[in-house]
Amino acid sequence: MSTTAAGPELHTNVSAFLSQSLHKAYVNGQWVEASTGATFDVVDPGAGSRIATVTSMQKEDVDAAVDAADAAFNKGTWSKMPVNERSAVLHRIAEAVEQRLPEFAQIESLDCGKVYDQAVGDIQGLINTFRYFADLAQAVNYRNVLAVKGHEAWVARHAWGPCGFIIPWNFPFLLAGWGLGPALAAGNTCVLKPAEDTPLSALYFCRMIQELDLLPPGVLNVVPGEGETAGAAVAANPKFRRMSFTGSPEVGRLVAEVCGRNLVPVKLELGGKGAAVVFEDVNIQETAQKLVEAITFHTGQVCCDATRWLIQKDIYDNFVDECIAKMKSVNVGYQMDEGTQMGPVVNQKQRERVLGYLEKGVAEGAELVLEGGAASVTGRDGYFVKPALIAGSLNNIAAREEIFGPVAFLSPFEDEEEGVRLANDTDYGLGNSVWSSDLSRCARVAESFESGNGWINAHNVIVHGVPYGGVGKSGMGGGVISPETLNDYLRPISVVRPL
Ligand code: NAD
Repeated sequence: MSTTAAGPELHTNVSAFLSQSLHKAYVNGQWVEASTGATFDVVDPGAGSRIATVTSMQKEDVDAAVDAADAAFNKGTWSKMPVNERSAVLHRIAEAVEQRLPEFAQIESLDCGKVYDQAVGDIQGLINTFRYFADLAQAVNYRNVLAVKGHEAWVARHAWGPCGFIIPWNFPFLLAGWGLGPALAAGNTCVLKPAEDTPLSALYFCRMIQELDLLPPGVLNVVPGEGETAGAAVAANPKFRRMSFTGSPEVGRLVAEVCGRNLVPVKLELGGKGAAVVFEDVNIQETAQKLVEAITFHTGQVCCDATRWLIQKDIYDNFVDECIAKMKSVNVGYQMDEGTQMGPVVNQKQRERVLGYLEKGVAEGAELVLEGGAASVTGRDGYFVKPALIAGSLNNIAAREEIFGPVAFLSPFEDEEEGVRLANDTDYGLGNSVWSSDLSRCARVAESFESGNGWINAHNVIVHGVPYGGVGKSGMGGGVISPETLNDYLRPISVVRPL
């Protein structure tokens, strides 16, 4: 299990960034304040104290940002730039982030309570995404000639226009990359609404873009604010040509409804309740270790996590004992401290949610195999919880609803047919995994999952080039990080001339 290598000492640029009295929004290449002067505070989840005050954009402010993105698109400096030049810009952005990687990682770690090394991985994720789409954009067939009788015909592909992005707090920078990377590579302009808990890395990114003059004004706009105001204003703006929402199914439904009314195509990346189906022929120690790492990674605040562990009957007791021992040894601590393996959850509300599900699960008859509960970390007044294991009927509320914390629900199964059936018995459909030394069985079971992703002898496997998306309550409208994603940001037009 990885641990942080960085101490709490902040990079001078990060200290200077955080010392600003007000963090403004980035619109049309300028730093702007909300028209009402409204602000909100951002808290370090590991310390429970304010680290920044951020402007809280209102509807008219968001609309102005969309107008700026629209004007920048129509101006054409970015949208009509030759694709090889645009790709070079994206590579320059990736390189600039890479040169500042520890700065971004410290900001991300402080802002969302992410263990520092995991934050490093997220920053690298955006860098890789920008590079992937910068290269892919050069390989797209922008004019595809069609062989049809009696006609000259082709499909041309152009950028759509302004694109909207609303993202959650669990992977702020990584998810910004998943959205902005393909949209920018295709020549679109963007308005990003970060989560109110974690707006800082996106604002630091804009600061870097502005300082190095990496993008024309209006191509990238970041509008921090509350979900019900700034988020709702992004969702409702009819000038967007594409919308992408990542977050909870409840809010995703609201965004999809308003996009539906405006006929704005929307992509939803939502929650999950992933299963790990563990067969009796696994190496118990190794598999338990990997699943414990998966559920404690970013304190279980991972949409595609393995939250239901289905274990074949014969090894159930041994497997659970192994998991209990490994979970007990997870070092819960401040996210920037040496040796920390699991940091806090993002805020007090999230901690109450995690603890509340343990209580509700027990009230419905489940057994706490490993108790969990609030954790305390010496000298830190943050939102810490202990990892927990809970077992019982899979109809239990803790087995059916997304908890979004370091809690796994355990249940035995008899045979392959039952393992697959239990894994699929959920409204969600994001990522499930199968664990066995029989690779034929693994392939069969992985394909039987009713989810966007089926993983073999691993969980949370996300690779550029492989589509990642959800079905059912986990999402719709296409996935991310694959060639299809780039196509989503290109508008096709068929051109036909009778001969
Ligand atoms: P959330 O739905 O509460 O918020 C997500 C974003 O929506 C935030 O920016 C928020 O400000 C905004 N928002 C809130 N109300 C809004 C409204 N009325 N209109 C428009 N925008 C609004 O989700 P969260 O709690 O920030 O994130 C956790 C959820 O995200 C979990 O369900 C998790 O599974 C999901 N998630 C999914 C993926 C994926 O790729 N499928 C990735 C990460 C997280």
